[in-house]
Amino acid sequence: VLKYSPFVVSFRKHYAWVQLSGHAGNFQAGENGRILKRFCQCEQHSLEQLMGDPLRPFVPTYYGMVQQDGQDFNQMEDLLADFEGPSIMDCKMGSRTYLEEELVKAREWPRPRKDMYEKMVAVDPGAPTPEEHAQGAVTKPRYMQWRETMSSTSTLGFRIEGIKKADGTCNTNFKKTQALEQVTKVLEDFVDGDQGILKRYVARLEELRNALEDSPFFKTHEVVGSSLLFVHDHTGLAKVWMIDFGKTVPLPDHHTLTHRLPWAEGNHEDGYLWGLDNLIRLLQGLAQS
Ligand code: ATP
Ligand code: MG
Ligand code: MG
Repeated sequence: VLKYSPFVVSFRKHYAWVQLSGHAGNFQAGENGRILKRFCQCEQHSLEQLMGDPLRPFVPTYYGMVQQDGQDFNQMEDLLADFEGPSIMDCKMGSRTYLEEELVKAREWPRPRKDMYEKMVAVDPGAPTPEEHAQGAVTKPRYMQWRETMSSTSTLGFRIEGIKKADGTCNTNFKKTQALEQVTKVLEDFVDGDQGILKRYVARLEELRNALEDSPFFKTHEVVGSSLLFVHDHTGLAKVWMIDFGKTVPLPDHHTLTHRLPWAEGNHEDGYLWGLDNLIRLLQGLAQS
């Protein structure tokens, strides 16, 4: 049985695995160096295809579907396994955080969500419209769009979801971290201003960008809600991987994406590379300062 403190999960002796987002119950310990994530067909499809794509070095190795305690899981590489007391950051990529199909569904069958209304009011009581206040509910795309404009998703094409540093400090409340200066400060603090770490992150992200621009998978998929997981430790090791493919879907017909053009409903553009360009530029700026 696993024990959960807010974000640190004890998988086995001497090793605390860290989960920065999502429901605590979505992950379990796998065999050595592997983790289990609650099964999702869409994620399975993506991970399977990515194993044969130029992006393979930038995603956790996929080990197939397994069952444990009567539940299905995707088994994948634990990206923290090679680090000693790592600092970890989850950056959600792209300028849009919901799928086009979610928008269509919400329009056809609007499902008022009280939970999302409450989360909204907790951050900004003035955010809901008079109608939404009267209903005490908002739709999911409305909530997601609002989160995008509160954070740097709309303005920079990525947002920081959570950080846990080697010193034990943990912050998953970046909902209102939007301005370039704020984001820059958070990133600088994450690496403690370490120039070596910054340079290694920048180099890794530039390699990732090359692989993305070469990737048949990336060209033909809408990549929404996916994150970059940054991990470094006191030995100077610093790496980045793409994670979370629960909302990565193949495009209809022979449609392809630039991942840089602005989104207009129907074009499926997700702003992933626009966000990555901005993130790289920002880190380059820090590495030179
Ligand atoms: P959400 O959709 O809310 O972001 P989720 O249930 O889809 O959550 P993920 O985003 O895939 O879950 O992962 C949640 C967290 O778990 C990440 O922020 C990261 O801290 C950790 N994590 C996920 N995959 C891995 C991995 N392969 N290795 C190490 N840590 C991981
Ligand atoms: Mg995620
Ligand atoms: Mg997810």
